[in-house]
Amino acid sequence: AGRLQGKRALVTASAQGIGRATVEAYAREGAQVIATDVNPARLAELEGVPGITTHVLDVLDADAIRAAADQIGAVDVLFNCAGFVHHGTILECDEDAFDFSMNLNVKAMYRMIRAFLPAMIKAGGGSIINMSSVSGSVKGIPFRFVYGTSKAAVIGLTKSVSADFLRQGIRCNCICPGTVQSPSLDDRIAAFDDPVQARKDFIARQPLGRLGTAEEIAAMAVYLAGDESAYTTGQHFIVDGGIAG
Ligand code: NAD
Repeated sequence: AGRLQGKRALVTASAQGIGRATVEAYAREGAQVIATDVNPARLAELEGVPGITTHVLDVLDADAIRAAADQIGAVDVLFNCAGFVHHGTILECDEDAFDFSMNLNVKAMYRMIRAFLPAMIKAGGGSIINMSSVSGSVKGIPFRFVYGTSKAAVIGLTKSVSADFLRQGIRCNCICPGTVQSPSLDDRIAAFDDPVQARKDFIARQPLGRLGTAEEIAAMAVYLAGDESAYTTGQHFIVDGGIAG
């Protein structure tokens, strides 16, 4: 049997990148996966994959989240993966950019957990996994002002939820990746004046000498979803190619 046999898992931002690799890994390990994303076209690529059902969900939309929670009910695993990388220092981050990143990277997790937690508690517990980053409280990374601010907040949110609900069977952990090959990383690299140099710079930032793969992050998300990690809560797990070392 798979490592997640019998579990029901919901993942946000699962149409591409780490979220997508995670829903595929969860399904391979025997979970029933609800893959959600704001992008219906890319999400549709997952339709027909055994073990996966899709549900369009914008994590900025509180009403849609409440409706999804009512419809879906209890899940064993909630992986809040949605997030956005703003490039710039505090001087390049105006109030709109600040609010957008905090809303998507932090407040969306607050919305999702508030909506899904009551049914999880009622069902006897579950595992909540939040996407943080090595950029934040683990390490200050240049040009990641609001990104790092928001991802540090994710660690605080994670520890707080863990402390409040661990006696009710809820575990809450987060993952702190280094630089991971993904469609949005490709977009960020393409936006530089010299994309070839920009990719070299991203790789140079990784002491291991290469970018991480989405599958390498999904492997941690499988561990944190399953009963193998039953004694683990309130922690951040760094998978970063050596940046923080
Ligand atoms: P990505 O950025 O390439 O894809 C993100 C997905 O999120 C897309 O499918 C998009 O449609 C979806 N999305 C965007 N806004 C949404 C919304 N409002 N509601 C629902 N879905 C929405 O994927 P990625 O690079 O693997 O990043 C995933 C997560 O991992 C993010 O939280 C990111 O901050 C974090 N992370 C990524 C890296 C990296 O180097 N790629 C490193 C550390 C942390």
